[in-house]
Amino acid sequence: MITSNPCSGRSPLESILETDLVVAGGGLAGTCASITAARAGIRVVLIQDRPVLGGNASSEVRLWTLGATSHMGNNNRWAREGGVIDEILVENLHRNPEGNPLTLDTILLEKVVEEPNIQLLLNTAVHDLEMSSHGTISAVRAWCSQNSTTYLVKAPLFCDASGDGVVGFLAGAAFRMGAEGRNEFGSLAIATSRPPIPAAASGGSNTAAASTPCTRPRPSSGYSGRSLTESGTISRTRVNFPKPKP
Ligand SMILES: Cc1cc2nc3c(=O)[nH]c(=O)nc-3n(C[C@H](O)[C@H](O)[C@H](O)COP(=O)(O)OP(=O)(O)OC[C@H]3O[C@@H](n4cnc5c(N)ncnc54)[C@H](O)[C@@H]3O)c2cc1C
Repeated sequence: MITSNPCSGRSPLESILETDLVVAGGGLAGTCASITAARAGIRVVLIQDRPVLGGNASSEVRLWTLGATSHMGNNNRWAREGGVIDEILVENLHRNPEGNPLTLDTILLEKVVEEPNIQLLLNTAVHDLEMSSHGTISAVRAWCSQNSTTYLVKAPLFCDASGDGVVGFLAGAAFRMGAEGRNEFGSLAIATSRPPIPAAASGGSNTAAASTPCTRPRPSSGYSGRSLTESGTISRTRVNFPKPKP
């Protein structure tokens, strides 16, 4: 049993870490950045405010990463992004063909834990930082709700992969938020035949994700999916995409 007499007040535990690179946010961007840096011999402290890695792609949110496959109306179904993200997705395809989001969590965790140069702080949120006299960031402060510890993590390099830009915001960097009008940068992401779209103050949309597990074995014959030999007949754009044969 731990006992303590009353006192005038207490402070949480504090841990001071020194490293080469602090990565704030353990979504796919922060996870891949940490692994890449660690493999280059850089010591990394990866700070993630959730109990799992993966951010929007984790089992908590479940947005799969298929970024290269559908840009600007293209139907680039065989396009893939390389590097660490490809390594993760190939591993996931091998070990997790049914696409269980919880299994992807474990693959991400395993990839990070395998790197001796990464110190991972889960359930730990960056909430404050310290600036040097040169106006550069010298340390971040983070709070772990699970061990009631405040971390002060010092480094010469910081990567803001929080998705929300929390480090840049706390450092006082200029920012803008929301969607710019299409004409500002001539964005091609929206079909150019549509009328100009004004700037919007709000950020994004709401998402409802659902998944259904496959409880029956896949048929060994009679599978109606397209084969690679048919690929030449498949349209490159969604607009003219042929309807599947009944
Ligand atoms: C509605 C929607 C649909 C999408 N659909 C697709 C799709 O179909 N295909 C595709 O490829 N991409 C899709 N994306 C995009 C994809 O989710 C993102 O590109 C990808 O998840 C971005 O990864 P990230 O690591 O930059 O950010 P995130 O996944 O947001 O990760 C950021 C991480 O930082 C953590 N964090 C935040 N603040 C702090 C803090 N203060 N301290 C510590 N950690 C913090 C967060 O908890 C989170 O885990 C979609 C995104 C959205 C919003």
